[in-house]
Amino acid sequence: MNKKKVILWFRNDLRLHDNEALDEALSSSDEIYPVYIFDDRVFKGTSSYGLRKTGKFRARFIIDSIKELRDSLRLLGSDLIIRSGHPEEVIFELAKELKTNWVFCNRERTHEEVLVQDKLERNLWSIGQEVRFSRGKMLYYTADLPFPVTHAPDTFTQFRKEVEKIVPIRDPIDTPATLPAMSINTTSDPLPKMKEWGFSEEEISDTNDLIFRGGEQNGLDRLNQFIWKSDHLLHYKESCNDLLGVNYSSKFSVYLAHGCLSPKMVYRELKNFEKSRLKNDSTYHLYFELLWRDFFRLMGKKYGNDIFKKSGIKGATKKDLVDDHALFRIWTEGRTGMPFIDAAMKELNSTGFMSNRARQNAASFLINDLNVNWQMGAEYFETLLIDYDVCSNWGNWNYLAGLVNDSREGKCYNVINQAKKYDPKGLFVKKWIPTLANIPADKVHQPYLLSEIEQTDFGCTLQKEYPDLCIKKEFYQ
Ligand SMILES: Cc1cc2nc3c(=O)[nH]c(=O)nc-3n(C[C@H](O)[C@H](O)[C@H](O)COP(=O)(O)OP(=O)(O)OC[C@H]3O[C@@H](n4cnc5c(N)ncnc54)[C@H](O)[C@@H]3O)c2cc1C
Repeated sequence: MNKKKVILWFRNDLRLHDNEALDEALSSSDEIYPVYIFDDRVFKGTSSYGLRKTGKFRARFIIDSIKELRDSLRLLGSDLIIRSGHPEEVIFELAKELKTNWVFCNRERTHEEVLVQDKLERNLWSIGQEVRFSRGKMLYYTADLPFPVTHAPDTFTQFRKEVEKIVPIRDPIDTPATLPAMSINTTSDPLPKMKEWGFSEEEISDTNDLIFRGGEQNGLDRLNQFIWKSDHLLHYKESCNDLLGVNYSSKFSVYLAHGCLSPKMVYRELKNFEKSRLKNDSTYHLYFELLWRDFFRLMGKKYGNDIFKKSGIKGATKKDLVDDHALFRIWTEGRTGMPFIDAAMKELNSTGFMSNRARQNAASFLINDLNVNWQMGAEYFETLLIDYDVCSNWGNWNYLAGLVNDSREGKCYNVINQAKKYDPKGLFVKKWIPTLANIPADKVHQPYLLSEIEQTDFGCTLQKEYPDLCIKKEFYQ
């Protein structure tokens, strides 16, 4: 009998632990050909506002992750075929060349990814092959939920209440001990260099500990470090709105977004920790936050392309937001004259990361204070964030723009109140905007109110060392 040969297409699931597509490929075949395609639309393309789809931080993180994935596959007796191009064509050609039976992959649910997988499927049908889709993005399996996706609750609280007590979370699948070797030799491209996409390695300074390196092992190490090797988890509920350093929050998002870490693995370790060490509000809170991720994924499934539209999930917007490119640029460059926002944007531009508290404020400021179209902000985050995740990013922006079917009309933050509450000593703004260093804490969040004498005394002359507030001041007196 002919051996069953399959292609295993890695996408946003760059790991060997708890990888359902890998597990199903193993149990259905004799030979597996693991493949990763660097899709030039993703790595070289631009979005509707002309921004790079993938910025330098995420590009490097993915290259790291692919390198590590290839090394891990080799250790288990297999390898990774790396190619560049359009997956629907490249994998189709590979399937013809290798005369495989199926292509296994984890299913994506958002527009561009679905177009690619559908096209691949149709191509494969023409040669009598097909795609076999698996799952693995979420903590919960949609099949286990007590409601169909189309009836998923539109509010997070309702969603949480319906799942947390009654739906069990499945165990993660183990990493296989070995993998079958590939008997047919086929070409594999070298790992791309950053400069092929117009970036240089040197642009990224590794001196900042918020610049994360990709790979499954780094994801598992971070999991181990945050949950087991430190006390950070035990204080997470109190610290998760902090702004400085690495350990106030888990930083799992960067690994979860690319599948270097599985959410079920995080959950298992969390539960083991609760059983063997301690269960408190903070351990629960990490699970609570992970539920947000599932919630937005579910909203992405339920509302499809609506999450990208200006009118969002709700299909209607009350705010008359405009495509003001000048204000948008001021916001992206951290020159609004509002230190809390400028520091957040400078952090994002320098590291590819921004805390949840800062993301909420930066988004709210763009929408509610600058009156700029939220889609521009979402696209900017898409470019820059290492942890960019289609549903989490666009879902959160929908939320902040008041476009979800929630009783709340979007969150409008008073940025000054937020800054004083979460950065009372001004350490966050001073870190990212050194020209504010000499301003006392009680004045540092409002340099636009400084008298001329104070400006001279603190070495922060408005319009010279730091911009004046780019919007009317009355509201923020
Ligand atoms: C405008 C905006 C855009 C965002 N874009 C993204 C994005 O592209 N990718 C992304 O992963 N998160 C996004 N978030 C959610 C959140 O800011 C990040 O998940 C979080 O800051 C990541 O840091 P952490 O892993 O240390 O989080 P922790 O506080 O340690 O939380 C643990 C995990 O819970 C999940 N989580 C927590 N809060 C949220 C949330 N509001 N929405 C979805 N998941 C959440 C994440 O997977 C996170 O890793 C966005 C939030 C806002 C307000």
